[in-house]
Amino acid sequence: MLLFPQSPRGDALARKYGYDPWLVSRFLQYVPDVEQFLDKMESKPTRYIRVNTLKMDTKSLADRLAKKGFELRQTALPEVLAVEKEPMSAGATTEYMLGHYYLQDLSSCMAVEALDVQKGQKVLDMAAAPGGKTTFIAQRMQNTGAIIALEPNEKRARSMAFNLARLGVFNTCVCKMDGLEAAKLGKFDRVLLDAPCSCEGVIAKDPSRKTSHAPEDVDYCSARQANLLETAIKATKLGGVVVYSTCSFAPEENEAVVETVTGKLGARVEPFGHGSAGLDSFGDKKFRMGKNTRRFYPHLHDTTGFFVARLRA
Ligand code: SAM
Repeated sequence: MLLFPQSPRGDALARKYGYDPWLVSRFLQYVPDVEQFLDKMESKPTRYIRVNTLKMDTKSLADRLAKKGFELRQTALPEVLAVEKEPMSAGATTEYMLGHYYLQDLSSCMAVEALDVQKGQKVLDMAAAPGGKTTFIAQRMQNTGAIIALEPNEKRARSMAFNLARLGVFNTCVCKMDGLEAAKLGKFDRVLLDAPCSCEGVIAKDPSRKTSHAPEDVDYCSARQANLLETAIKATKLGGVVVYSTCSFAPEENEAVVETVTGKLGARVEPFGHGSAGLDSFGDKKFRMGKNTRRFYPHLHDTTGFFVARLRA
């Protein structure tokens, strides 16, 4: 992982916002408008709800929540609403308990938008729990076709099964399995790899991450992500789509992983019309297809930090 010399500016920002200095000196290299970014990370992130169209249409849900005093705003995705006023916790309404919506950041929904699923397809979700993206895929497929959802952590796999039941999803099979074993499952039309990562993008939700991870963690994640992405591409039918996403800002976990694996296996990165263009270089590394990958920043897109790459196998 690339570390950069500490500077008086970086050290001052690290002190002001309570970060490890190595992390801020890296942000200065790859995050636009760092001070605005650090400021925004201090505020509570905008809450988003994703309407579960398997059970409820967007207008009916918005009307029901409006009667309870919620103020909602339409986003770029038809199923996703930003919560502007929340008179009670959006996770404690009857509609939530009934599975009429799921609490999910807009950026997370963008990974499913990029996957472009169609009715009747065979889809692999390689790192699936607690199921936010799986359940969105299921609703976009109108509960048709088949989704195989992998999760090695038993507790997380169980909570995922509960979410699938609450949302009325019945085209999905949850397997307690490591994504690296996916090759034995055959070939899929669509593969989502929402990879385990260092979670730099969710610092606004979990400020302990300002100081809790070390440079070695980014290297560890990056190596595991490259192995998982290689497996994802190999599990995709020729001409199928793979979406790779993380909630990290680190180029080693994002553009660098995509560059290494697509270079090795010959997949190409397709443009996707949301977020900002990814990096085309970092340090002495050049990313040929970096501009086609997408980054989501809290201060620019009002989302948690996120990275999405749409690959064609
Ligand atoms: N896609 C999920 C959603 O939208 O709700 C979030 C997934 S979270 C970013 C990453 C998940 O990958 C975690 O649940 C973690 O337990 C799981 N994981 C870790 N190592 C894995 C591996 N080798 N194969 C598959 N999943 C793995």
